[in-house]
Amino acid sequence: MLFFRFLFFSLVTSLGVVAVRGDAVAPQTGEKPKPAATAEPGITFDWVHVDGPYVAMTFDDGPSAKLTPKLLDLLAAHHIEATFFLIGQNVAENPDIAAREVREGHEIANHSWSHPNLAKMSDGGVRDQLHKTEDAIRSASGNRPTLLRPPYGSITARQKKWINQEFGYKIVLWDVDPLDWRRPGAKVVCNRIIKMARAGSIILAHDIHPGTIEAMPCVLNQLEAKGFKFVTVSELIAMQTPLPPKPSPSPKSIPPKSTSPSPTPHD
Ligand SMILES: [Zn+2]
Repeated sequence: MLFFRFLFFSLVTSLGVVAVRGDAVAPQTGEKPKPAATAEPGITFDWVHVDGPYVAMTFDDGPSAKLTPKLLDLLAAHHIEATFFLIGQNVAENPDIAAREVREGHEIANHSWSHPNLAKMSDGGVRDQLHKTEDAIRSASGNRPTLLRPPYGSITARQKKWINQEFGYKIVLWDVDPLDWRRPGAKVVCNRIIKMARAGSIILAHDIHPGTIEAMPCVLNQLEAKGFKFVTVSELIAMQTPLPPKPSPSPKSIPPKSTSPSPTPHD
């Protein structure tokens, strides 16, 4: 897997893009570093600085006819509102579930039409993926999405900018990834999320894997027991407070780079 990751990064960086939680990755494109403008403030979020124990649960790749209704029942029982990053094709197949998500207070957002790697696509191809999905979401639910999560977290800095300008989308990644797509079992998924979650976290999961749905009672109970409160991603972003100024590092002790959880080529 490590090798695969390396390969993936080599691939995307050699293509001149910064992909997969690119905001946290040093640019390797030969571009001149832009002073303090790496994170496209206000456009891209993988975590939000908030005052208070708020987190956002996010579920990708649905709706699933079989699993999503079970998850919605559980969320309703906990009075928790989550964010669903929907695949357009699946919305077209299950428009009633997308409508139920909105009816029950959840946020629904764009995760492309067919889950391609957007960073490798032409602008026209990306535009088509996003438009078709937005149309499917609007006709199913009446709501216009305002967030995009690129499949695999893979998107270039240039794409973020034009997509934000053209569609008005914020780009949403994550800081908690239990790697549930590898199907490690409900217990492992639960433990990973509980271990990594912190105030302002955007927690990634998928409502297309049975083990993920099985893990959710444990996840929700334990996060609640720790005092976390659940909001949608747009609500979390609206709560953002400024980061306290960082103390300037002395020349002798430059801190090592952040060791946030490694990005993966899956979401
Ligand atoms: Zn996905």
